[in-house]
Amino acid sequence: MSRQYPIEKYRNIGIIAHIDAGKTTTSERVLFYTGISHKIGEVHEGAAIMDWMEQERERGITITSAATTCFWSPGDYLKKDKTNEHRINLIDTPGHIDFTAEVQRSLRVLDGAVVVFDGVAGVEAQSETVWRQADRYHVPRVCFINKLDRMGASFEKSLQSIWDKLTINAVAVQYPIGQEEDFSAIIDLMEMKAVKFEGEMGKDVIKFDIPESSLEEAKKWRHKMVEKIVAEDEALMERYLNGEEISVEDLRAALRKATISYKLIPVLIGTSLRNKGVQLVLDAVVYYLPSPVDVPAIKGVDPNDEEIKLERHPKDDEPFSALAFKIATDPFVGTLTYARAYSGHFNKGGYLLNTVSGERERIGRILRMHSNEREEVEEVYAGDIVAFVGLKNTTTGHTLCDEAGPIVLEKIVFPEPVISIQVEPKAKADQEKMGASLKKLQEEDPTFRMETNQESGEMVLSGMGELHLEIIVDRLKREFGVETNVGRPQVSYRETIERNADAECKYVKQTGGRGQYGHVKIKLEALERGKGFEFVNEIKGGSIPREYIPAIEKGIKEAMAKGVVAGYPLVDMKVILWDGSFHEVDSSEMAFKIAGSMALQDGAKKAGAHLLEPIMKLEVVVPPDFLGDVIGDVSARRGQIEETEDRPGVKVIYAKVPLSEMFSYTTSLRSLTQGRGTSSMEFDHYEKVPGNISQEIVEGKRK
Ligand code: GDP
Repeated sequence: MSRQYPIEKYRNIGIIAHIDAGKTTTSERVLFYTGISHKIGEVHEGAAIMDWMEQERERGITITSAATTCFWSPGDYLKKDKTNEHRINLIDTPGHIDFTAEVQRSLRVLDGAVVVFDGVAGVEAQSETVWRQADRYHVPRVCFINKLDRMGASFEKSLQSIWDKLTINAVAVQYPIGQEEDFSAIIDLMEMKAVKFEGEMGKDVIKFDIPESSLEEAKKWRHKMVEKIVAEDEALMERYLNGEEISVEDLRAALRKATISYKLIPVLIGTSLRNKGVQLVLDAVVYYLPSPVDVPAIKGVDPNDEEIKLERHPKDDEPFSALAFKIATDPFVGTLTYARAYSGHFNKGGYLLNTVSGERERIGRILRMHSNEREEVEEVYAGDIVAFVGLKNTTTGHTLCDEAGPIVLEKIVFPEPVISIQVEPKAKADQEKMGASLKKLQEEDPTFRMETNQESGEMVLSGMGELHLEIIVDRLKREFGVETNVGRPQVSYRETIERNADAECKYVKQTGGRGQYGHVKIKLEALERGKGFEFVNEIKGGSIPREYIPAIEKGIKEAMAKGVVAGYPLVDMKVILWDGSFHEVDSSEMAFKIAGSMALQDGAKKAGAHLLEPIMKLEVVVPPDFLGDVIGDVSARRGQIEETEDRPGVKVIYAKVPLSEMFSYTTSLRSLTQGRGTSSMEFDHYEKVPGNISQEIVEGKRK
């Protein structure tokens, strides 16, 4: 067998957006126009195609990151010509910020993205966050300003907010005819044609001459577009300056190059709900976003020696490599491991090596997911996105590869959870089932942690936000039939040190029989936020024999996990072990472990250990009448207002607020604004807890 589709005709893309910008609606239109889904479900009717999990439908948000394959020939809306068909793998990304980790893992495996904006709100806080993440993962993208039909929508203002807040490299390739309720057609500035959408769900794309009334404006915008594009291509620039008319093909090719190298970002417009413009977005995906061969080779390391850097190219004759980016439990086939293949090819029935777990996995079945059917496939090629069935030891972020060419692909880094709750089953008999079910859910979602509290024996779940944990508890009930009692959410505080300090501990016991002797001298150094823990062994001349060093490190780590202020883990510090002594007979691993642990505790206190709390970035949208009340309330929650902004009919407040003050905020906001305010929140950074509040936490007064 050989590959069906040339890899140049693949587009592995995601649609990313602020919640409510219209990602789900746009995705559904994509599936409809690509001809796979023939019946379309509106979000509010709860029949969205990509959202198959029950509570996603109820909440109207998309949590899981499924991949769906569809096909598109740009400009050929009747799909007559199969020769120019492209395979688009649409990787679903969640819109709610509590699930940024899901966004991240999808960004990791996609080659390009469509960023959807609300044409009324323009760039919102979360759009900025996802935008920065896409920057971090070097994802080329096109923008789609959606909802141009809504009252208050503005192409110019939305574009301006993209220029102001995200990038000056955004270039409009379209211009609207009419806006708000008069929005009737889209001018394609490349072809200088007007486009309207008629028939069922706007499936008939009709091109016509730009009406006289819009011609002036269209010419102006085309001029801007052409200047921006030719500026990125010297040869084109020269021709342009010589007065030559640049062809649409040349402009597209130059814009494609500039988009892939992050120099330009094409901006498109439309309204998904009213069926205008989505086909042109699909065209743009093919025209401007990269295929797997247009992006840099994937990097990794040799599993046997991390120092050896390796690369894999999107070629069928290289060793097979793939990254697992999503584990899902399917009621019919069991565990599905979604993976993106980066190099080589692989036939089902063979074995793949998981270079992270070290296990071999037999691949009995491979599925390609379409929106409403699964296709059994025999083989996987570089660039493909597929689901492997029934893998046992593979989780998100693991590499699966050819045993003959092992590699560990760059891992996906997830943020630390900031909030936790205690759970217990309503029925005692469900204890074991709850544990097993949680373990399953955790395999799917690496940002969610579970732990058994040593003292109370209760199960503690931690995650990215209240909603994140709510959904997990909900899934326990729905999917596994385990009903639970849930405690109040708790903030995941941390501890850290303020300054450097020296510490020493000589742990000596000589009471009959064999004694104990461990003696260590350490230095503690404060590290930047987010740096974690570093242990450095500087013992020279054997003042402590090498075999005891791991025990000392272990003692230090255990003490750090317990903290010294209020029982929260110590983070962001470096511990240097530089001296000590030992006893020929009495020294033992145990004695050194205790000495390490005690020295750390002593040192941390000397170094000004204090509590850290998660600070959230908050965005609240309210009608102007409520502005004062909402600001007052945010301030009372120790919030710092950073900015307020005017939008048509509403005010937007940007603030930084400690998470501990924000439980059930959505409910109180609702009552404060007669149900008219909305908010979104995401983790920003950890900050020192003020003295009086720290006191309350230490004394256990603050729950
Ligand atoms: P998501 O949260 O980004 O997935 O957004 P949805 O697709 O669920 O859309 C959020 C809401 O906006 C829904 O009520 C949609 O019906 C509505 N919506 C989506 N696209 C448009 C549009 O182009 N115009 C208007 N007026 N509403 C839209």
